[in-house]
Amino acid sequence: MGHHMKTLLCALIWAIAAQAVQVQAQAQDRGERYALTPDRCHPPRSDTTSSNNGDGRSGLAPARAAGGADNGGPPDNGFPPPARLDAHGQQLASPPEPPRPRAEQGQCVKSCEAGYAMVMDDRQQQWCQRIKPKAIRMSVPSELKPEGIDASFTRTRQQKKKDKNGEQKITPRLSPPAPNPSKLLPWQGYVVVTVVGADDKPLAGQSIKITHTVEEDSGGHTKAKHGKRPPLADLFVGKQRITDERGEVVAPATTDGAGQVKLIFSASELAGVHRIKAECVRDACGEQTATINVKVLDLERYVPDSAIAREDGAGAAEKHAQRHYLSKAAAQNLEKLIEAMSEAKWGIVRVNDAGLPWGGLFDIDGDWLPSHFDHSAGTAVDLHSKTIAVDTKAGVYRGLCSTSKDPEDSEALSKRLPNTKILWHRGKAEHFHVYLIGADPTGRPANCRDEADKPKPAKPKKG
Ligand SMILES: [Zn+2]
Ligand SMILES: [Zn+2]
Repeated sequence: MGHHMKTLLCALIWAIAAQAVQVQAQAQDRGERYALTPDRCHPPRSDTTSSNNGDGRSGLAPARAAGGADNGGPPDNGFPPPARLDAHGQQLASPPEPPRPRAEQGQCVKSCEAGYAMVMDDRQQQWCQRIKPKAIRMSVPSELKPEGIDASFTRTRQQKKKDKNGEQKITPRLSPPAPNPSKLLPWQGYVVVTVVGADDKPLAGQSIKITHTVEEDSGGHTKAKHGKRPPLADLFVGKQRITDERGEVVAPATTDGAGQVKLIFSASELAGVHRIKAECVRDACGEQTATINVKVLDLERYVPDSAIAREDGAGAAEKHAQRHYLSKAAAQNLEKLIEAMSEAKWGIVRVNDAGLPWGGLFDIDGDWLPSHFDHSAGTAVDLHSKTIAVDTKAGVYRGLCSTSKDPEDSEALSKRLPNTKILWHRGKAEHFHVYLIGADPTGRPANCRDEADKPKPAKPKKG
């Protein structure tokens, strides 16, 4: 490596290290202003033989003498301008200075901590004064998928489970895994808040208040049928979660050297309209509100052919009025399946729950908790089978699911619908849970399964 390269590398490493120190320093609150300490100043130039600038960080040219009363001007000591940034991560900029009036005055390092600018009072005393924020901006992803769509995940949110005595219990919320910033999941995206100071530069060290809400009645979950507020998304700074179980922000968010707070928004399993509001904690800087729609795109209302099928449901007890939404591919397969069922003398096919208008967790009881598993992508539907003759429903199941070469199955439905799979739920609430495109919402392949078959698989899927 040539000497030049080494020098360049060293300078780069120094610059990065200095930046890191500054970023750490920004957390320190110095009040409205603080005085530059004397040890940051040089003796007059005539007395010094060293070009060390006195802060022990480098031998680069010192900033100009303490003459001008401004926000830090360019050096005028004959050296080239220092190749480093000020404490805000910005190149210092100011109008050209008149020649230094008093050469005998000490030379001071003109650098304030992040969020401060240099000023001088009537008595020629230099201060680092807090820069007031002027404006706040925010960028968000406009759309994200609900958690658990199109990528595998471990459910950490509350859910209902039966204990040993068969009683239903709600499991506690577990700590969610930290996002991987280099590989965000389909339900994760960056929320970037930027604060600009009165000097029109990105302003570091600003505490930001983030408020996060979900719009009432959004995502197909009406307030009237749900009661409590919906769970919010998790917000992370890097790998640290800054929100509590309820989604309230509990840790401070402070702008970095680039004047930014970079958050990762990790949606819950529920679809809805999320609003993020950002404002400065200490000084007014305006406020910004942005909207993130957590939804499965392009779901359409499925309307069954009234000659052979009809919508079914729990009537007045139903928590979701809109619950027959499917993707186009899923709807086409459902149409074919219903036609085949009709041919098999099923009678009017009763189409129960499919998906909500924006997909996401279908909380059948209106309590934001998983109950209807695998209905969140608009690719599954429940078909009533309880009152249908056993031979009829077994015929449809076999037709779609049998892998035998039995000629009786030659007209097999599986040829017309190679991807559609049935989970035949037995028992009190018997029905066909149909994976219309042969996969669960995470994208994992789903297979046919008849709960009457023995032995039961080790890991039963719920529909
Ligand atoms: Zn709901
Ligand atoms: Zn189901």
